[in-house]
Amino acid sequence: MQAVLTVDLGAIAANWVMLRDRASPGAVAGVVKADGYGLGAGPVGRALLAAGCRHFFVAQLAEGMALRAALGPGPMIAVLGGFAPGADEDAALVPVLNSLADVAAHATAGGDGPAILHLDTGMARLGLDATEQERLASEPGLLDRLDLRFVMTHLACADEPDHPLNAAQAMRFSAARARLPGHGPKVRASLANSSGLFLGPAFASDLARPGCALYGINPTPGRPNPMRQVATLHAPILQIREIPPGTTVGYGASWTAGRASRIATVAAGYADGYLRALSGRGTGILAGRPVALVGRVSMDLLTFDVTDVPGAMPGDPIQLIGPGNTPDEVAARAGTIGYEILTSLGARYRRDYV
Ligand code: PLP
Repeated sequence: MQAVLTVDLGAIAANWVMLRDRASPGAVAGVVKADGYGLGAGPVGRALLAAGCRHFFVAQLAEGMALRAALGPGPMIAVLGGFAPGADEDAALVPVLNSLADVAAHATAGGDGPAILHLDTGMARLGLDATEQERLASEPGLLDRLDLRFVMTHLACADEPDHPLNAAQAMRFSAARARLPGHGPKVRASLANSSGLFLGPAFASDLARPGCALYGINPTPGRPNPMRQVATLHAPILQIREIPPGTTVGYGASWTAGRASRIATVAAGYADGYLRALSGRGTGILAGRPVALVGRVSMDLLTFDVTDVPGAMPGDPIQLIGPGNTPDEVAARAGTIGYEILTSLGARYRRDYV
């Protein structure tokens, strides 16, 4: 008996269309790094392509190669982490140039391949910092040798609409673009991630780069989630054990039955990305009823108190992710974010794409 991860590709496509309508007249890419946020970059990418998406972002070169094989020629596939000139072989990937050294290497290598220039405006992570931006502005010859498709930056606090850094980054970005001799204002801009699309029209820019919202994660934390849910995870009950009061369950004997209880042992664990931090905090849904995870999360097994679901039988599926326990809700219980819940989903689940 195997746990089943169901991925609703129609919901992903609908989420993309909703974001595209929000961003209009700007375009909207699909961020499918980390294997499509854990849900499968190939199937997700094909669903987005069919919905009309023509720009994709991945984090690493190998992800880009795999996505090109899945999508065929045509759509832009950009690699956020960049890559050495020529390393993409025949995959026609677009490097994101994250430093002046990247810009110089790309220009030296001919520069005829398209590229995306990344300006850091407040993350202090990747992208040309303020000093490098100045130096680039003073070397117009360098820029002339590039076929820049987009100039991008990344927002640090887009999920906090009132954070002053949002407006500051937008201002720094347009000022930095304006300083790029000849090119900056002409090259299309890419600014918003998922949450950025909800900060107001000025943030949509020419190409938004949403990731999490495509997969049903709430891009407007604290407000109702406007996105459709995408992932559902069910794990089957392997055994049900009747235990008397006072019996402890699992490693560390961390939970003690306070009454005669029925404990269902379920086929999923932290090796499948069901975070150990959910020990004593997780919930499942069995036959429409919430059931509490009791004891510690093991590598391959979870234990639920199903005493109040009298008809429960081995083989019955317990919903671990889905309506009533969305990735955001599971994340809140584990003290993390929905992104981590999705990208941790393990390789042992059967994956059904619907
Ligand atoms: N752009 C960049 C540079 C990113 O690193 C990410 C993801 O972390 C995204 C866009 C997508 O962000 P989100 O998933 O919050 O929409």
